[in-house]
Amino acid sequence: MQREKLSRRTVLAAATGCAVAGTGVATVGGALDDDGIDAETAEDALSRDSFSIRAGTDQETTVYVTTAPIDGPTAVVVGGIHGNEVAGYEAAREIADWRIDAGTCVTIPEANAIAVEQGTRSGDDWTDLNRQFPEGEPPRTALAEAIWDVIVEYDADVVVDLHESTGIYAGDPVDGVGQAIFHSGGSNAVETARASAEYATENYVDDPGLAFETGPFSGPNTEPSGLLVHKAARDLDADAYLVETLSSGVDLETRIRWHLAITEGLLDDALFEDEPDNGHDPDVDEDAEEKDEASEEAPDDGNGADDANDDSDDGDEDAPIAEIRPEPETGAELTLEPGQTVTLDATCSRPRAGDLVDFEWDVGGTGEFDEAGETFDVTAGDNGRETVTLRVADDAGRTGTASITLSTD
Ligand SMILES: [Zn+2]
Repeated sequence: MQREKLSRRTVLAAATGCAVAGTGVATVGGALDDDGIDAETAEDALSRDSFSIRAGTDQETTVYVTTAPIDGPTAVVVGGIHGNEVAGYEAAREIADWRIDAGTCVTIPEANAIAVEQGTRSGDDWTDLNRQFPEGEPPRTALAEAIWDVIVEYDADVVVDLHESTGIYAGDPVDGVGQAIFHSGGSNAVETARASAEYATENYVDDPGLAFETGPFSGPNTEPSGLLVHKAARDLDADAYLVETLSSGVDLETRIRWHLAITEGLLDDALFEDEPDNGHDPDVDEDAEEKDEASEEAPDDGNGADDANDDSDDGDEDAPIAEIRPEPETGAELTLEPGQTVTLDATCSRPRAGDLVDFEWDVGGTGEFDEAGETFDVTAGDNGRETVTLRVADDAGRTGTASITLSTD
């Protein structure tokens, strides 16, 4: 079972990680001293390095690099892009000390050091740092450029950016986007985000209203734009995640624990090894069945987008890229009045090889793509949130999908 699998790895991560003492914050997974892992050996085996970016300026901040003895992917974890989103940078400080089993973990806990020091969203220049990373062109500020250089230099496979919001995504996203993981496209990122949200919710969330949800990034050329994670996904093809916890009405310790649990879930496959005798996990098929059952039992759990994205085939590098642009233009989530019609435009989807021949649409995450057309008009009903998924196919039958969530909250 996915939850147990994650929990087991969390045991590993907690016993070998979070070396920061005296912060008053519980490590992921709680106290696990009897787990038998030789933490000293694990620490000795790691290589740790740190350096400054923007050295000699007010924006100077430290980058921490932890390298495991076993080759593996490189993850970059960023906190403090917004200086008033405390749980994100507090968690990132701990993640900088995590002991990992494989690969490389690069952490920039206080990306916007001035803003962190001031406790404000932006630094002295009043620019929103998370809008300075346009896709396909250089970052717009020196600080953004320095952060981006780290991600490029380390050739990040995974990028996790930790934030907070004053409202929750599951309610009215206009009020905020807390308790959510926004993910790049491709079935791996979709599934990893979902598993991580599920893990954090089951283990660390008491109030069902605060369950973590997942959602896709907004498309290129839609607002908000210039986000670090969007650029990482689209320019570097990294699996990228924007994590948002609810910042109001929840104590800091709990929010930090959520960030740690979610990040650990997101990096589980990248940086934490299976048991040595578990090269092939026999539970995988069982997992899939359980998830299918779960989604059938709870069709209104708001995760329709994720289910619908599962059939995207990012294993094929020639698979086409699906893209939905709503008219009028907004982000990955549209808030509509009941009865309001929106046109979804798929014409900016593009093939990587051959030509696009099919544009099909699924409403409600049913898995049935029973509408066709390069554009698709949807009228919002009264039923809260609904996911519309576009599937494009090229002349060789390769498919790509994208989803958008319509909300009438
Ligand atoms: Zn933020």
